[in-house]
Amino acid sequence: KCAEVAMRAVRKSAKLADVCYDIRGPVLARAKQMEDEGHRVVKLNIGNLAPFGFEAPEEIVVDVIHNLRDASGYSDSKGLFAARKAVMHYTQQKNIAGVGIEDIYLGNGASELIVMAMQALLNNGDEVLVPAPDYPLWTAAVSLGGGYPRHYICDEQSGWLPDLDDIRRKIGPSTRAIVIINPNNPTGALYPDSFLKELVEIARQNQLIVFADEIYDKMLYDGASHTSIASLADDVLFVTMNGLSKNYRACGYRAGWMVVSGEKRHARDYIEGLNMLASMRLCSNVPGQWAIQTALGGYQSINELIAPDGRLTRQRDLAWQLISDIPGVSCVKPQATLYLFPRLDPRIYPIEDDQQFILELLEAERVLLVQGTGFNWVQPDHFRLVFLPHEDDLRDAIGRIARFLEQYRKR
Ligand code: PLP
Repeated sequence: KCAEVAMRAVRKSAKLADVCYDIRGPVLARAKQMEDEGHRVVKLNIGNLAPFGFEAPEEIVVDVIHNLRDASGYSDSKGLFAARKAVMHYTQQKNIAGVGIEDIYLGNGASELIVMAMQALLNNGDEVLVPAPDYPLWTAAVSLGGGYPRHYICDEQSGWLPDLDDIRRKIGPSTRAIVIINPNNPTGALYPDSFLKELVEIARQNQLIVFADEIYDKMLYDGASHTSIASLADDVLFVTMNGLSKNYRACGYRAGWMVVSGEKRHARDYIEGLNMLASMRLCSNVPGQWAIQTALGGYQSINELIAPDGRLTRQRDLAWQLISDIPGVSCVKPQATLYLFPRLDPRIYPIEDDQQFILELLEAERVLLVQGTGFNWVQPDHFRLVFLPHEDDLRDAIGRIARFLEQYRKR
C-alpha cells in the first residue's frame, strides 16, 4: 500500500502579489451567487453595453458574419491590413502625424495591448505614473510587468483634472512613462487642450512615454470634442489605445488597437519588444478584426446616443440628478463615458471599508456597484455607477441606493 503523500498547495505566482482587479472581484462573486439562488440583481458595475440594449451597429454585425469564412486562419501578428489601414485613417482624422501601417497593432480588446505594452517596457523597479482613480487594469498591468505604479492624484475639486504639481513631484530617476485615461473611467472627465499641452511639456522635459487610453473618445456629451494627446507633439513617444468596445458597443468582439507615434526613432528597441510579444500571441481574434474597417468608416450611430435628447445623454442627466439629490452625496457631472463616480461625505457616511459597504448594499437592495478603492482611490468614500439602464430602471436602482443610504444615516 502506498504511503499517503502530503499534497503541496498550488499557489499563484508571486508576480500576482500586487495585482488587483476588483471590478470583477469578490463582490461580483457574491452577486452571482445571489443570482444562482434566483434573485434579480441590478448590475451597475461593468461598462458592458449589450445587456442594456445598446447593441453593435447592424452594419458591423452583418460584415463580421459576411467575413467569417475568411477568418479561419491566423492573420498577420499586428492584424489585418484593411483594419489597420482604417485605424491609420482614423489617426489622420485625429491629427496624429506620421502613423504608418507598421505603427498599428490590433489586439483582443485594448486590454491585451495594455498588458503587452507594459510587459514589453518594464524592468523590475521601473516606475509608471498612473492616475488615481484609474481604470485598474493599468495599475495591474504595471505591477504584473514588474514595475511600480506611482499614482498621481486627479482633483475632484477641479472636475477631476490630474494635479500637474503632484505629477511633477512624483517623477524620479526610475520614472519611465505616464498613463492618461482621457476621457476618463471612472470619473467621466474630459481633459481640455490646455491641460494636455502642459502634460506633453512634462513628458518632453522628463523623457517620459505617454500612454493614452482613449477608448471613450466618441462618447462625449454637450457637444464636446476630444483631442488626442498624440496630436500635440512629434518629439514625445506616444502609445495610444482605442477600440470598438465602447464607441461601437462591441465589447464582446474583443477588437482593440494600439498606435505608436511621435518620437519613434529612439524607441526601436521597445518597438522590437512589442513586435515580439505581438508575434508570440500569433494574432488577435480575426472575426473581431473584420469589424474595425466597417465600424470606423461606417455610419457613426454613437452620435444619436450622445445627442442632447439621445439615450445616453438622458440617462447621464437623470442618473447624475438622482444621485446628487441624495443627502451627503455629491458628484462631478461627467462630460463623457458612461460612469458616475460620486462622493459620500465621510461626516455623514463614516465608511471604513468600502468593499464591505458595497457588499451590504448588495445584500440589502440587490444593486451591484464597485467601490472607489477598486479604482485605486485611497479613501473609502467613492463608488462607481454605470448609467446604462433605461430611465425607469435607473430610477428604481438609484431609489434603492438612496433607501440604503437613508438607513445608513440612521445607524
Ligand atoms: N480602458 C478603459 C479606460 C476601459 O474602461 C476599458 C474597459 O472598460 C478598457 C480599456 C478595456 O477595453 P477593451 O474591451 O477594449 O479591452
